[in-house]
Amino acid sequence: MSERFIFTRHRTRCYHCGEDADQIIKAVSAQAQVICSACGATRIFIPRFENTGAVGTCTPIGRYDLWTLEADGRCKNCGVAGPHDLAIGCNHFTTRCRNCGYTHFYRFNLEYMAQCPLDDEGVSVPPEP
Ligand SMILES: [Zn+2]
Ligand SMILES: [Zn+2]
Repeated sequence: MSERFIFTRHRTRCYHCGEDADQIIKAVSAQAQVICSACGATRIFIPRFENTGAVGTCTPIGRYDLWTLEADGRCKNCGVAGPHDLAIGCNHFTTRCRNCGYTHFYRFNLEYMAQCPLDDEGVSVPPEP
């Protein structure tokens, strides 16, 4: 990913491995990711829409807490590199430019484990010819 928009980390208890570990948070226009630095559990978010209007409040439902964070990024709307407000919940991921209010909304797309070499149950292997 050559575009570098948001890159930060948030230390919290991982929903997957239960460790108190840094969760690596990356976002570009096309995708946002949250990756556990301890177990590699990854959540992928894809863009839903972008706008410059007010952000509605999202009600977090589910097993994840809502994280509200601040990270520096370069806004593609106003071009200013500065603080963005991040809100990451179980089904959504938003970034909002503090300078102009431009907001990216992402929705949860998929989850995978980057490191699970011992667990190949559930992986479908094509039958031998
Ligand atoms: Zn983990
Ligand atoms: Zn902006």
